[in-house]
Amino acid sequence: MLFYRSTRSKDETVKASEAILKGLANDGGLFVPEAIPSLDKTLEELSQMTYQETAYEVMKLFLTDFTEEELKDCINKAYDSKFDTEVIAPMVEAEGAYYLELFHGATIAFKDMALSILPHLLITSAKKNNVQNEIVILTATSGDTGKAALAGFAGVEGTKIIVFYPKNGVSPIQEKQMVTQKGDNTFVVGITGNFDDAQTGVKMLFGDKELEAVMANAGYQFSSANSINIGRLVPQVVYYVYSYAQLLKEGMVEKGEKINVVVPTGNFGNILAAYFAKNMGIPIAKLICASNENKVLYDFFETGVYDRNREFVLTSSPSMDILISSNLERLIYMTAGCDSDKNAALMNSLSKEGKYTITADMKSNMTDFYGNYASEQETAETIKELYDNTGYVIDTHTSVAATVLKKYQKDTQDMTKAVIASTASPFKFTRSVMNAIDAKYDSMTDFELVDELSKIANVDVPNAIEEIRTAPVLHDTVCDKEDMKAVVMKFLGI
Ligand SMILES: *Cc1c(COP(=O)(O)O)cnc(C)c1O
Repeated sequence: MLFYRSTRSKDETVKASEAILKGLANDGGLFVPEAIPSLDKTLEELSQMTYQETAYEVMKLFLTDFTEEELKDCINKAYDSKFDTEVIAPMVEAEGAYYLELFHGATIAFKDMALSILPHLLITSAKKNNVQNEIVILTATSGDTGKAALAGFAGVEGTKIIVFYPKNGVSPIQEKQMVTQKGDNTFVVGITGNFDDAQTGVKMLFGDKELEAVMANAGYQFSSANSINIGRLVPQVVYYVYSYAQLLKEGMVEKGEKINVVVPTGNFGNILAAYFAKNMGIPIAKLICASNENKVLYDFFETGVYDRNREFVLTSSPSMDILISSNLERLIYMTAGCDSDKNAALMNSLSKEGKYTITADMKSNMTDFYGNYASEQETAETIKELYDNTGYVIDTHTSVAATVLKKYQKDTQDMTKAVIASTASPFKFTRSVMNAIDAKYDSMTDFELVDELSKIANVDVPNAIEEIRTAPVLHDTVCDKEDMKAVVMKFLGI
């Protein structure tokens, strides 16, 4: 059995299902597996598998207290016709890079890869642990998680979901997607603050013992759908395994040939999943961490100092507008030799002073990573260039990654084949994408732009967008960040 421990103390050891239910450890730390398991199938075997079969082979190694039947049931409910392609995560080659399209699910962003399975993992975990309470999912979103979580949990019996988003910090289409969400068990709230305010507020609610007691009395308990939940992290490892196996199958890489992986990064969940895949045995050389102008992570990999004390920038890649990358804590813990005291001290310094400095030893354990960033202008230029040269249209987040790959190749002359995590459909960030291609589009409405993009990219308008054209707004609550607790209590009637 594989157990999970907190990144901040030694005394809590839980099974996978318990870690999924709790989200966060009692001490505020994140759950990490005691060791990263190795794949027990060869890459040749994996290359013959479907996405669902690959998911089972990867997830069974992490979620060892799930039976085969339980896990396969979760996988089959998640990766079905909600995705608009049978392969679930297709790859497109353009200008020598492989774009791993992670946006073919219900809400056309990569969050669907994990959030379509999380509700099933959670409900299964609740059953396994004899939980009687109704589960209340509390989520802070920089845009994409919110809708993907709402879509995943809407109508799932025994759950309610409350999503907080920065009122002025998401794209119009992202906001429309959320506020039109159907389902009696769904609640959406705009807060007057940025994503970090929302995330900090949610963390405080999770840690509020008084609220926990009131909730328990009323038959409720919190759980998290944020990317700190290992039920999010583990399903994300799957597509890195799957994409390598596909490259092998198609003869794009030779047996054992290493690839680089480029990930547009915000909360550090997606790239950490790639790091897990590497440690499971996938031949990955560099993990290239791409930031937008909120380049905390770039500075961190350069200097070993994580410093959130800086101006928060609103960019055209809002899902990466983050100054505290929560999942980085797992890498800090692991590169500190799984020393929870050392990690806890650094995290304490982050919460008190907004920064911390890692030791030279820790830094030398991070040489798998390379960090760089893309300015707004560079991000737009890359979208235009790629479209002009190939006709392929990428979204702003993916463009940050594509830009950083070019910088990496220029810096290092390392031309190892690269997989770029393509994290959102361009239809989700239509205005920024179309403006990048040609300034003349600026006068069009959002939905005119959608139709125009469909024409120039020669891609059908995704269902997720068609749906919201005429959908009524069902959620209009806005609150200050100080009032998040009151809003939650009101929704729950407690
Ligand atoms: C969430 C998100 C990211 C950032 O992923 P992390 O796991 O938070 O690093 C990048 N791109 C898009 C489109 C996203 O929705």
